Amino acid sequence: MTTTTQPLTAELAARVPVTGPTPQRCFQTGLAHRPDVTVTAAAVPDVVATLEIAARYGAPVTVHTTGHGLREPAGGGVLLDLGRLRRVEVDATTRTARIDAGATWADVVTAAAPHGLRPPSGSAPSVGVAGYLFGGGLGLAARSDGWAVDHVHAFEVVDAGGTLRSVSGGERFARLRGTGPEPGEVVTAVVLGLLPGAPFTGGGLVRVLGAADEPADPAPLQAWADWTVDLPDDVTSGLSLVPYPELPFLPPHLRGRRVLRIGVTVTGPVERADALLAPLRAAVAWDDDTVAPLDPAGTARVYDEPDVPHAYLGDGLLVDGLEPAGLDRVATRTGPMAVTGIRHLGGAAGRAPAVPDTVRGRDAAYLVGALAPFGADTVPAADAWAEVDGILSGFTARANAQGSHPAFRFGPARG
Ligand SMILES: Cc1cc2nc3c(=O)[nH]c(=O)nc-3n(C[C@H](O)[C@H](O)[C@H](O)COP(=O)(O)OP(=O)(O)OC[C@H]3O[C@@H](n4cnc5c(N)ncnc54)[C@H](O)[C@@H]3O)c2cc1C
Repeated sequence: MTTTTQPLTAELAARVPVTGPTPQRCFQTGLAHRPDVTVTAAAVPDVVATLEIAARYGAPVTVHTTGHGLREPAGGGVLLDLGRLRRVEVDATTRTARIDAGATWADVVTAAAPHGLRPPSGSAPSVGVAGYLFGGGLGLAARSDGWAVDHVHAFEVVDAGGTLRSVSGGERFARLRGTGPEPGEVVTAVVLGLLPGAPFTGGGLVRVLGAADEPADPAPLQAWADWTVDLPDDVTSGLSLVPYPELPFLPPHLRGRRVLRIGVTVTGPVERADALLAPLRAAVAWDDDTVAPLDPAGTARVYDEPDVPHAYLGDGLLVDGLEPAGLDRVATRTGPMAVTGIRHLGGAAGRAPAVPDTVRGRDAAYLVGALAPFGADTVPAADAWAEVDGILSGFTARANAQGSHPAFRFGPARG
């Protein structure tokens, strides 16, 4: 703390929970917040007071919840940690939930499940609700449910300076749903529509393609791409290709192997899923198949992503189609460092919203993402970006300014 920030810190400490210089936990470990002071809000009045005090001192405020989407760490000023604001109140009659802005999807799933309801959540339950919604929110059943923001009724927002208001229409509502908040604007809660928890079916089709550091056969990737071409809206799927390192804590059948997973959900009974999946099951000799009735509280098993904080960077391209040469490149170039994830869009996620928003990707057919780990002592960021670009350059981004999806851009800005 410098002498110039001492009065700010002293005034904050007198009125709100000042918890130290940095937050306790951050999913992205490749970047670190370096604020002058951190406030961990225990209730909305703490947010209001923090913004009011910060405005008087002209201090910038950076918001932190989980750190999954951290790109611009605080370099001074106030870090406002919302991680303790996690209350979720479900109204089963109106099928809505009022969700505090520090809640994760796991919190919402847990609160909604006893009412037979589920939220439009994504692949990882540990992702924060608010940050996810700001990018539109590409859910596990997006082709059936639409984008998650299609279900937002209202945001509760504190403005820079400390005024709390509810936003449920107009330009600001549209901006928050797709582009996100402006600097200094803090969302404290969201009112969100919930969906029927059943019938719901899902899981993963898994195929080990070979050694992580050797080119693989692209045919199973192409089989998935071909299968997606004429699907109805009640089936949503995505592909991930993960080159697992030779690490002793991994299961032996994954160690050093390149593993293809097709994550699938069907908003219908298992018989419907079986009928839809029959051509894909016939096209590839899958090593594992976990598609079965899906408990909304167990949706993490659809993509089975590791829930371990780490340093990663990456990007996500919106594309009109999956060129065979691109899939070939994914199969032959991925690894041993980079992970590829492709989500099938369209269906309800391709339709115009009932209320205007700023979501990117409604007119795209797929979202192709590539992620690479990096670290000062392991992989320089420039090398990790080269891995990401090596994968993404096999695909043709949409020929407009919306080629890349902001929610799937991770890590530090390019040097
Ligand atoms: C493992 C993993 C899986 C993912 N899966 C999906 C998926 O299936 N679908 C999908 O659409 N996206 C997915 N994402 C992307 C994710 O939605 C974004 O990274 C999102 O920004 C994460 O939000 P967060 O609150 O968890 O992270 P944070 O890094 O804490 O926040 C992200 C940004 O939002 C700001 N912010 C957060 N809360 C507030 C608030 N209340 N008020 C003002 N500003 C705020 C933060 O300052 C930061 O700039 C995934 C990301 C990861 C790492």
